[in-house]
Amino acid sequence: MIPGPWRDVAAADWQDWRWQLRHRLRTADELAQHFVITPELRHFLDAGHGFEVAVTPFFASLCRPFDPTCPLTRQVLPEVAEAIVRSFERADPLGEDRHRAAPGIVHKYPDRVLFLVTDTCATYCRYCTRARWVAAGAESLGSAELDAGIDYIARTPAIRDVLISGGDPLLLATPKLAAILDRLAAIPHLRFIRLGTRVPVFLPQRIDAELVHALRPRRIPLFVNVHCNHFAELSAPVRDALALLADGGISLGGQTVLLRGVNDAMPVLQETFYALLSARVRPYYLFHCDPIRGSAHLRTSVDAGLELMRQLIGHTSGMAVPKYVIDLEGGGKVPLWPDFVEQIDRATVHVTNFRGEHWQYVNHAD
Ligand SMILES: *Cc1c(COP(=O)(O)O)cnc(C)c1O
Ligand code: SF4
Repeated sequence: MIPGPWRDVAAADWQDWRWQLRHRLRTADELAQHFVITPELRHFLDAGHGFEVAVTPFFASLCRPFDPTCPLTRQVLPEVAEAIVRSFERADPLGEDRHRAAPGIVHKYPDRVLFLVTDTCATYCRYCTRARWVAAGAESLGSAELDAGIDYIARTPAIRDVLISGGDPLLLATPKLAAILDRLAAIPHLRFIRLGTRVPVFLPQRIDAELVHALRPRRIPLFVNVHCNHFAELSAPVRDALALLADGGISLGGQTVLLRGVNDAMPVLQETFYALLSARVRPYYLFHCDPIRGSAHLRTSVDAGLELMRQLIGHTSGMAVPKYVIDLEGGGKVPLWPDFVEQIDRATVHVTNFRGEHWQYVNHAD
């Protein structure tokens, strides 16, 4: 059942998330056990100048080893093209470092903050927006930093929700994560908590009863947003992990990054959103791939993204159409929606519907 290099691994080891983390593929030699590593790529990896590499055996086992166009492989296996940096690409494309309000806290919007609690992920995505910071070796926030971050939230009544992210917060030790959630849930002005994670996809073994208990809704609900870019990521163990979370009372949302050669085709995107909904995950955001250094080979144009949205809207259940957003360097997210409005007169709104037909609608209210 388990392919290739892991044929002889005991099922109990394979299902143990700590075993999976310990056996991640990181070096050229380890990656070559499953993937095709060209001499150029080996040279690039051995030079060690790029963003950290780590792939869980579980996720690697879903990648087609001899197919460099495999949409899963493209997301996690480095390419030599990562060495090519465009003039507009940035180490911090969202300008997050300038918005640090307290340790781990990025405060950009009036009523919500991002709380970056760890720099560690189960597997590193080649297009990671926080590549400058993720896997830097700082690991998770120390207790003094956590205290300072939570204290900032507690003394800022304008904050209504906290988005716990990283890195991947589901890699924190369970008691540490539970304590953070307990302390946030006790802050009276918070209305709900969000947590962003890719662990259900990269390391579904981590989602066990103890973790689900730690994530249970408290005074306020918890929304978990799962990063998933392709329907092939939603294998049976991943769907089981998502079901455990949903059965535990956690509302699940999806976030997807638009990536060239991964999901930039209408049927792939549509099936990914339907597969997420089938797994009880409501697609929330489709992120345009941020201009992170060395990511041009994975990025599409914004035009292409808008065209995909036009093909989805109306042809696909509205439940399966997330918001498409670009994230400005320091300016925040901007939702982009194809233009269905042609013109608005005092009396009439001229629109195009999803079939491309021209229609008119009354404008005045009385
Ligand atoms: C994306 C983001 C949020 C959450 O934004 P929503 O549009 O409410 O989902 C909050 N803070 C920062 C810094 C973000 O990048
Ligand atoms: S899981 Fe998220 S934070 Fe971690 S490497 Fe991937 S994109 Fe970056």
